[in-house]
Parts: sequence; C-alpha cells; structure tokens
Amino acid sequence: MNPISKLPIPLLEWYRDNARTLPWRTLPTPYRVWVSEIMLQQTRVTAVLSYFDRFMAAFPTPAALAAAPEDQLLKLWEGLGYYSRARNLQKAARQVITDFGGQFPDTYLELRSLAGIGEYTAAAIASIAYGEALPAVDGNLLRVTARITGDDGDITTPAMKKKVTALLTEIIPIKAPGAFNQAMMDLGALICLPNGAPLCDSCPAASFCLAHQKGLETVLPVRSPKKARRIEERNVFFFFYQGKVALRRRPQKGLLAGLWEPPCEHSADARTQLEAWGISLGQPSFAGVSRHIFTHVEWHMEAYVLEVSSSHLPPEWIWADRDAVRHQYAIPAAYAGFSDILEQYLAH
Ligand code: SF4
Repeated sequence: MNPISKLPIPLLEWYRDNARTLPWRTLPTPYRVWVSEIMLQQTRVTAVLSYFDRFMAAFPTPAALAAAPEDQLLKLWEGLGYYSRARNLQKAARQVITDFGGQFPDTYLELRSLAGIGEYTAAAIASIAYGEALPAVDGNLLRVTARITGDDGDITTPAMKKKVTALLTEIIPIKAPGAFNQAMMDLGALICLPNGAPLCDSCPAASFCLAHQKGLETVLPVRSPKKARRIEERNVFFFFYQGKVALRRRPQKGLLAGLWEPPCEHSADARTQLEAWGISLGQPSFAGVSRHIFTHVEWHMEAYVLEVSSSHLPPEWIWADRDAVRHQYAIPAAYAGFSDILEQYLAH
C-alpha cells in the first residue's frame, strides 16, 4: 500500500489543531480565495498579509476590481512583485463580468478560463470555495508527497507533477478537499520545510513517511538545479527639480510592465546617457549601489543624483512630488534600496 494513503486522517486531525489563522480563511468566498492565492504565488504569507486586507477594502467585489484605474491597482500592489499578477486579476475580474454575468465561476474548468488562473489556482479555489475534490499541487504538495512516498523523481518535471496529482486525486477526502489542500500547504510551510531539516518529530506523517524512515528527509525531494540568473549592470538616475523627482513609465510589456521608475538604463557612461536624454547640464553625483533579484535576472544598480535647473524632460516623463510618489505612482521594490535618496531630496 502506498504510504500516502495513510495521510488524510492524521493530516486533517493535525490541521484542526494547527491551522494558521489567515484572513482569507475566516471568510473563504471564491473571490477572496482567488485574490489570496494569486498574491501567495511566489510570495511569503507574511508579506501578503498586509496587502490582502488593503486590497479587499479597495476592491471588495470583482466589479470593483474590474473598474479600478490601473495606477490605483498597481499602487496597491507596489512592493509585492510579479505585477503581471495584478493585471491578470483585473483582466479576470472583467471576464467575470462579461463572460459570467458577474457571478464568480464555480467549477474548475470555468475557473481555468480566467486570466492568470492555472491548474494550481483553479484547484485551490474549486476545492476551498466549492468543495471540488481536486488536489492543488504546488511546491509544498510536491515536496511533502515526494518525501512521504520516498520518490526520488525530479519535482520540477511535468511527469512528477502528473504522478503526484494522480496520487493525491485518489486520496483527497471527498468531504473535505479544501481542508486537505490547506492542511498540506500548512504542513509544508510549518513542518515539512523546504530549506533545512523538516520537523519530523512534530509531523502527523512521521510513522509512515518513507523519507523519514530511511533518513532521506534532506535528500528528498530531488530538484534539478535552477539556471543561473543573468546579471545586468544598470545606472539609475534620480533627477530632482524643485523638490520633485523625474519618473517615467516602463513599457506595457515585459518586466515590471507599466510601473513608474527613476530612469534606469544598462550601464554606459553616465554623461553619454544624459546627453542621449537631452539632459546635459550639471555633473551627476554618485549616490550608492543596490541589487535586486528577479526570477531570471539580477539588477546590479549604481545610482546617480542630479539637481537640474530646468523642468524640461524627455516626452512622457513626469515630475512627481512626495505625495505622488507615496500615493499615486507604483514604483517597483527593485528601487527600494534607494529610498533614502527620495527621502533626502523630495520636498516635505
Ligand atoms: S515525516 Fe518529516 S519528511 Fe516526512 S512528511 Fe513529515 S516532516 Fe516531511
């Protein structure tokens, strides 16, 4: 008998006593579960907590989200990263209005038709909000299942995902699929940890987990190494004019699409860059370095500050005062390492 089949009862008992208290769990409407699941992609629970309530207060319904101005949406997402998630949320909210008459779709298949909702998210919403018996297979479920079954297959491959999905589909309790998925998420986050040694002594699966029995807890799961990230050297220019900073909007496609930023380019000679922009007055002063790590690329940035004597800017750049930087324009966290520059130069 596959040891995973022993999991549901002890897991649900453990979950009854150890479930994390999370705002979207207290009122698990499909809309709230959806927003929380999208926010949680690639993002820690602790980081999501403060965003979730603010987002729900601003957009309490799919209709409110569908009608939101883009800048307000991106500003509320500022710092959470992976901004295409926010855009897809809005796209999907609009689909809910146009394709489903404002009613959130209530089956896995219909959920999959919404922008930004993949297999995992659809299964999470369908199981938690509608009781559909589907495992929501993410990194947590893959890791826990690979360890319990002692499987040394590579969990980054589609074949292993398919295998784990099939195994969990067989054992997920029909009457409590949402609790099962959330229990697995919590077990993965609190006990069967991804980095370092899992806390097997506190695990409800310890008596039948093959990785634990064989001492392979830190060997499993097997995961093919990630590709090295590309490193980009960039210059970031902070232009100030009468206590305002120059910002420009990033292109609508690609990394950090549509967000606002201090002009930032691949490293070249700073003066040449300024001339290319038609800003040739004054000598920019070096103001520090910072790094930001994205999934596939790392930015190594050098900042330059220049107080200019004319308000002339290249087309489509804007001057933003302190209030606009705080409340109006979404500036990616990639520039957070330079926040002291804004603090120093923006007029109070
Ligand atoms: S016994 Fe240890 S390795 Fe096995 S599932 Fe529990 S925490 Fe993970």
